[in-house]
Amino acid sequence: MPLTSMFEDMSKQLIERKEQGRLIAQANGLVKRNDETSYTVSSQSGNGSYDVVSTEFGWNCSCPDSTYRGIKCKHIHAVELSFT
Ligand SMILES: [Zn+2]
Repeated sequence: MPLTSMFEDMSKQLIERKEQGRLIAQANGLVKRNDETSYTVSSQSGNGSYDVVSTEFGWNCSCPDSTYRGIKCKHIHAVELSFT
């Protein structure tokens, strides 16, 4: 795969995560605020939930995307978007 299309693919995924996060934030009751630094985000498929917590390095989520790949996952996007 040429490098440029790899980057295009990556940025497409980033946009999709943000878009998915927006859908989660807009859905009723998926983002639950525990306190200022701790949120629980229910999965859209209804299978379990993830803990999103604020750390000194930024938001951290308990899902594989965030834990193993170290990326800003849709749950973190959802929490950020639910502020506004
Ligand atoms: Zn997550």
